[in-house]
Parts: sequence; C-alpha cells; structure tokens
Amino acid sequence: MQHKRFIDNGTYLRQFMGNIFVVCPKCGRQATVTCPDPPRCLRTKTAVCTHCGFNEKTNHPILNCGNNKKSTGFSWKGPVIGIVSRRCGYCGRHLQKQVRGPIRANTTLLKCPGCGYEMSESINWRPTTDGKALDPFFGLKLWFVRSVRGNELWAYNREHLNFIKRLVEATHREQRPHSNGTLSNRLPKWMLNKKNRPHVLKAIQKLETPSE
Ligand SMILES: [Zn+2]
Ligand SMILES: [Zn+2]
Repeated sequence: MQHKRFIDNGTYLRQFMGNIFVVCPKCGRQATVTCPDPPRCLRTKTAVCTHCGFNEKTNHPILNCGNNKKSTGFSWKGPVIGIVSRRCGYCGRHLQKQVRGPIRANTTLLKCPGCGYEMSESINWRPTTDGKALDPFFGLKLWFVRSVRGNELWAYNREHLNFIKRLVEATHREQRPHSNGTLSNRLPKWMLNKKNRPHVLKAIQKLETPSE
C-alpha cells in the first residue's frame, strides 16, 4: 500500500467559513452563507439562495466563540437555549435554570429550592447547535451532511470536504508544534478510526458528486 503523508501546517475550522453551503430554509435547495473576513468573521455575513431569492444578513459573531452571550437577534434560524441566572431575592442562594427553545416567552418563574421564594425572571436566549450540523452564523442546515455508521459527517464546503478526505486517507499524519486547536487535531475519533475509513471516504465521494 502506498503511504500518504499529511502535513498540517495549522488549519483551523474558521478558515473554511468564507463560503458555507447550506440548505435554503425557504425552498430546500442549495444556498450560500458568505463571510467576507475569515478567520476573524467580524463583518456582515450574508445568506443567499439564487433559486428562490432568499436573502438575509447578520452581524452575529461565530457561534460558541465566547462573545455572543447576549440576545440572539432575528437572523438566527437554528435552535436556542434560554439561560436564567440570579440570586434568590429572599435568601440569596444562587439559582440557575435552563429553558429549552423555541423562544416562547421572555420571562420564566424561578422557584428557590432553599426557601421556596418564587420570582419572575427574564430569560437570556442564546443560539446553540444542539449537536446539529449547522452554519455558525445563521444556524441553517449544512448542505454537505451524510450519515456514516451512526455518526454525522459534515463539511462547510468542497475545500473543507477535501481537507477531511486528505486527512482520513493519510497513513502518516504530521503536525507542527502548538497545533492544539487545529482542525486535524479536532476531528472526531470515529472519523480517523481505521475501520471507518473506507465508509468515510465513500461518504465524501458521494457528497462530492453533484446530484443534479
Ligand atoms: Zn431558496
Ligand atoms: Zn431562597
């Protein structure tokens, strides 16, 4: 068998966020989420479907990057989770509660288990992927998704798909030092598992082949 070498010079998931293929929420065909400034992703992102004219903008930062603790805005289409956190108004105990989405209310009743005091408290809704394969700006379903032996293989675009392919194909993987957060280090173990390798590669091949 021919040895294939893969050298990761430090590729991060963010580098693939320039163009993300998603399922259009209006017509179900392929739409594109564009981020003009990866890997920082601070400028306005757009979601455009050339088939039906769906067109939205957002200034939302990357999901889970730590600086989107406040409200979700209207552009987020994915799942949300509500966080309520405060001290009991009577005994001072710290209370925390999670409310599952979708957004139904802005307040919830919080009951202190210590003293039984009840108070109405505002919910801080935050975007979440809920374990689903979504784009990190609008929460739209990714286009390149395929189930592989009970796991979900997903990619933002063809370059990302190709990156995963080269990594999975490789028999030798090398990394530069200090590459903890790089993508090749972050790929789930099942993907690099020898037994799964042919199934992963087959799934990638299917995804690479246009269905139309
Ligand atoms: Zn559409
Ligand atoms: Zn209390």
